[in-house]
Amino acid sequence: MTLPFFLASRFVAGETLSDSLPVVDALNQDGLHVALDKLGEHVHDRGEAEAARDTYIDLVRTLAARDGSAHLRNRISIKLSMMGQLLDEDFCEDNLRQLLEVAAEEDVFVRLDMEGSALTQSTLNIFEAVYPDYPNHVGPVLQAMLKRTDRDVDRMCELGVSVRLCKGAYAEPSENAYQDMPQIRDRYLDYMERLLRHTDYSGIATHDDTLIEATQAFADRHDIGPDAFEFQMLYGLRRETQREMAQDGYNMLVYVPYGTEWFPYFSRRLREKKENVWFVLRSLFKG
Ligand SMILES: Cc1cc2nc3c(=O)[nH]c(=O)nc-3n(C[C@H](O)[C@H](O)[C@H](O)COP(=O)(O)OP(=O)(O)OC[C@H]3O[C@@H](n4cnc5c(N)ncnc54)[C@H](O)[C@@H]3O)c2cc1C
Repeated sequence: MTLPFFLASRFVAGETLSDSLPVVDALNQDGLHVALDKLGEHVHDRGEAEAARDTYIDLVRTLAARDGSAHLRNRISIKLSMMGQLLDEDFCEDNLRQLLEVAAEEDVFVRLDMEGSALTQSTLNIFEAVYPDYPNHVGPVLQAMLKRTDRDVDRMCELGVSVRLCKGAYAEPSENAYQDMPQIRDRYLDYMERLLRHTDYSGIATHDDTLIEATQAFADRHDIGPDAFEFQMLYGLRRETQREMAQDGYNMLVYVPYGTEWFPYFSRRLREKKENVWFVLRSLFKG
């Protein structure tokens, strides 16, 4: 069954890049940084993985050429499973290197999204293989819900690398992931503090006021200026808050997904919060 795109349009900027660029411009005009993500995951064909790499390369060039965003840290966010990770890690690393060559030339940062826990180690292996050659243009995502993240945070602090910290969007078993929210929040806060102290410009990715306020208070207490890190939220969620935080002097990045393969991303957003289901139902009855 193919669902009509307007259902997802609250959370997905468009089905094509050209439909999505006005969204990027509007966010930039409000002082918000943008991370563009071409949706798609779990590619099992070499040709498709190479095509994804080329799309990401075009995306880097398109973003670098945008007028009026020179003072903003626009970037791209990618999933390694789109670039051949499930076929062959060396092939995936090679695709990533070709992308990072252009990203470094154009000075565009590439964030490696984190997928389900079956891919965590492989994603971090590929990240560590390329990081020494592109230290200013690539960084991973860590998920507070995973029990292993404690030592992954240590490792990223040792490297001083920019990390995006999130709770984790994938259903994971209790052997490797905390299941209850207070415990996930507690872990998140511990990791946030370590990343803010020991890494340069990490991203605190959450819509959760408890975590946002605790990050602001921690930064104030330790004289960590607002330019040393950023907050990150998803396109379509807490839109007013995003703008208010930017006006208050915080770096705020909005993750902007686009593309025809929006269904898995859309279902993760619906599972996360009942308010998100409400946005979709409301759009059905509009006009
Ligand atoms: C920029 C970004 C990138 C991400 N990248 C990844 C990734 O690579 N891998 C991955 O696994 N996950 C990723 N995620 C998803 C993340 O792991 C969580 O699943 C998702 O952000 C939900 O957790 P939360 O902390 O934002 O808030 P939730 O746990 O959904 O909500 C907690 C509380 O926040 C407040 N809140 C939340 N939403 C709203 C709202 N719309 N309006 C008002 N209050 C609200 C409410 O008080 C709520 O009770 C990313 C998230 C962001 C923001």
